[in-house]
Amino acid sequence: GSWLGMIGGGQLGRMFCHSAQSLGYKVAVLDPDTHSPAGAVADLHICAAYDDAQALVQLGELCQAVSTEFENVPAQSLLTLAQHTRVTPSGDAVGIVQDRIREKAFISQAGVPVAPYAAIESLDDLQAADSALFPGILKTARFGYDGKGQARVADREQALAAFKEFGSQACVLEALQPLKSEISVVLARGLDDQVKTFPCARNEHRDGILAVSTISAQFQDDALSEQARQAAAAIARTLDYVGVLCVEFFILEDGRLLANEVAPRPHNSGHYTMNACVTSQFEQQARVMAALPLGDTRALCPSMMLNILGDIWFDEQGQMREPDWAALLAVPGVSLHLYGKAEARVGRKMGHVNIVGESDQQVRERTARAAAALHIAFDYD
Ligand code: ATP
Ligand code: MG
Ligand code: MG
Repeated sequence: GSWLGMIGGGQLGRMFCHSAQSLGYKVAVLDPDTHSPAGAVADLHICAAYDDAQALVQLGELCQAVSTEFENVPAQSLLTLAQHTRVTPSGDAVGIVQDRIREKAFISQAGVPVAPYAAIESLDDLQAADSALFPGILKTARFGYDGKGQARVADREQALAAFKEFGSQACVLEALQPLKSEISVVLARGLDDQVKTFPCARNEHRDGILAVSTISAQFQDDALSEQARQAAAAIARTLDYVGVLCVEFFILEDGRLLANEVAPRPHNSGHYTMNACVTSQFEQQARVMAALPLGDTRALCPSMMLNILGDIWFDEQGQMREPDWAALLAVPGVSLHLYGKAEARVGRKMGHVNIVGESDQQVRERTARAAAALHIAFDYD
């Protein structure tokens, strides 16, 4: 059979393997970890660093196409691979979204508004930054995730201290926005410029980590949801992006929509597609790679996604316990997806639950029951 390749062995790579294999492909995963979630289900696990020259040649010569499942893949590895096989997304596109300064410039170029910001590459840049950017958030331009590499700064003095704390690496300073909610759009763009967007998810975070996504029937008819899908498509085209990507947006108190950031891969907020849509985001990724027609992105019903963090393996006394899966699976409309990680740790993503139902209200009730069964706090309105 034909081979597809994946750089990165995390849960996104694992779910990709399942989808690609079900389309009849064999999958080769490149990851240095001998016990990675994707490596365990891949047809071939190439156990080497993401920039290992020999491993990249092996992957590129074996596979008809290669993609990536994590944001910080060396863009150079993708460029090297492109000498051997089709690479989606390209190293150029990934290189842009890996750098918040270049990313924001491209989003603006696509005609999509972002929060007011300044590129900060030196203490002088911070001294010169518009005072309207305070209170703000200083974010390192590279390698941040789950709110890491960010500091909320009330004034210039705090920003100077945070900049030094980050080792004076390149940052962006963003004005703190009054958020009403956060939403995201996952889409795929094919080699032929066809773009298909999945329905918008509303996202709630806890301690900087995505906790719950809601895909309500009601919100899908909203003009903002349509605006976000079009903005995401415009961003993908401006980046000349091929593959699956996610755009995170802010909805402000006054109703305006701002783009926050782009992830060059399937996204945690798109996991609901596995049970609620005709095509999942992972199947879509495989279809783009294999130059197959893009799948139908319609949602068949409203749904919610509940992240399962390692926290629930520990009781109030800090003793290990196995979550009560039977209690969870007794709730109607529930699908459990565990990532096969050996060790549960606080804050570590271990799996997720998708919940479907006939109405927004039914989905919410079922999700509350699912959360209770797993001792996950659930207090979103
Ligand atoms: P991810 O894990 O999604 O990659 P990240 O570390 O890259 O996160 P961001 O998405 O930029 O970080 O920010 C994390 C969260 O911080 C956002 O989801 C939002 O809740 C809040 N936030 C970020 N920027 C702003 C802003 N300018 N104004 C208000 N809140 C913000
Ligand atoms: Mg991010
Ligand atoms: Mg984010």
